[in-house]
Amino acid sequence: MTAHDRSLHRPKGGLLGWLRLGQRAAAASATDEPPSPAAGRDRREALRQRTLEEIASFLTYHQLEVTVQTLTIAHNYLSGADPQLARLIDRQVQARKPVTIDWIEDVLSRSERSDELAMLTQLMQRLEASIEEFGKTSQDAQRATSDYNSALAEHVTELEQVTAAGAVISELATIAKVMLKRTRDIERQMVRSEAQTRALKRRLAETRRSAEEDHLTGLPNRRAFEVRYEEEYRQAFAAAEPLCVAFCDIDNFKRINDHHGHDAGDRVLKLVAESLSRISNDSCHVARHGGEEFVVLLRDVTPGDAFERLDKLRASLAERRLVNRATDVPFGQITFSAGIADVFAFPDRRAALKAADAALYRAKQGGRNRIEMAEPGDLAPAE
Ligand code: GH3
Ligand code: MG
Ligand code: MG
Repeated sequence: MTAHDRSLHRPKGGLLGWLRLGQRAAAASATDEPPSPAAGRDRREALRQRTLEEIASFLTYHQLEVTVQTLTIAHNYLSGADPQLARLIDRQVQARKPVTIDWIEDVLSRSERSDELAMLTQLMQRLEASIEEFGKTSQDAQRATSDYNSALAEHVTELEQVTAAGAVISELATIAKVMLKRTRDIERQMVRSEAQTRALKRRLAETRRSAEEDHLTGLPNRRAFEVRYEEEYRQAFAAAEPLCVAFCDIDNFKRINDHHGHDAGDRVLKLVAESLSRISNDSCHVARHGGEEFVVLLRDVTPGDAFERLDKLRASLAERRLVNRATDVPFGQITFSAGIADVFAFPDRRAALKAADAALYRAKQGGRNRIEMAEPGDLAPAE
C-alpha cells in the first residue's frame, strides 16, 4: 500500500463518529444541488471532509492513537507534505511491518539528526571558504607591503643619485598616501574576515553540540553515545580496565503518558534523566538512547560495583512519590529496569550492548523495577 493507494485506509466508521464527522460527511455527499455561488465553498468543504476521512482511516488502519503528533504525521503522509516520511511509511507497510508511534518517533529523530548533519556540513564549507578568504586577504596585505617596500627602496636609491630631490620626495609622499589607504582597507577587511571566522566557529561548535544532544533531557543522544562507546572501549581495552554498559528503561511509561498526557510524560523523562545523570562523571557517561530508554557506560568499575551504583539509583527513584504538578495527581511509583553487561566478557561492543538489552528484557519479564546482569549466553530479545 502506498500514499496513493488510500482505499485501504478507508474508515470503518468508529473513529469518524468519534470525530463527529460521519454524519456531516454523509450529508454532504447526499446533497445533489445544482452549482451555486457557494459551490466553491462546498467543494473546499468536501475536500476537507475527505482529507479528514483519510486521516481518520490512516490512524485506524495503523491503530495509532489520536494525538497532535499522529494527526500531523497522517496529514503530512497523505498530503505529500513530507515525501521522505511517506516513502519510509510505504516501505514499512510493504515490508508488512507495523507503523507504530515508537517507529515513527525513531524515524523522525533520525531524520532530524540527518538534517543537523547536513547543516553541519554546510557550516563547515562556509567556514572553510571564510578561512580561505582570510588567508587571501593576509596574502594581499603582504603583497601590498612588499610592493610598497620595493617602491620605497627604488626611490631611496634615486634619491641618492638625482639632484632634483624635491620631485622624488613628493612622488614618495604620493606613493606613501596610496599605500596607507590600501593597507587601511586591507586592515578593515582582515578585521571583518576575522569576526566572520569567529562567528562561524561559534555556530559550528553550537551546531555540533546540538547534533549530539538530546533536546528534551539535555543528555548526550544516541549518536554521541555511540562515539563515546567506541572511544571508551578502545581506551579501556588499551588500559586493561573493566568497562560496563547498561540499558535502563522506564517501567510502564506508556501508562504515564496515557494517564497524565505527553507533557507530563516529558517531565518524568527529564526527571529520570536527571536522576541517572547524578552518577555521571569522567568515567561514567549517561545518554538517552531513545524514547524512555537510557544507556550508561561505566569505566574502570567492576561489574559488581556497576550493579551496586545503578541499583542504588533505582531504589532511590522507586522510593520517591512524585506528583504531576500540573494537576496535583500523584504519578504513583516511577521505576526503571536495567540490564548490565561486562563489556569485555563479550566478543565485541555490539554483542555486549545486545546482551545488556537482553538482560533488560529479563528484568522486565522478572517483574520490573530490577536490574539484571547479562550472561555470556544472552541473546537479544526477539523483536
Ligand atoms: P515497559 O515497562 O515494558 O518498558 O513498558 P513501557 O510502557 O515503558 O514501554 P512501551 O515501549 O510500551 O512504551 C514506551 C512509551 O514511551 C511509548 C512512547 O510513546 C513513549 N515515549 C517515547 N518517547 C517519548 C517522549 O519523548 N516523551 C513522551 N512523553 N513519551 C515518549
Ligand atoms: Mg519502558
Ligand atoms: Mg522502551
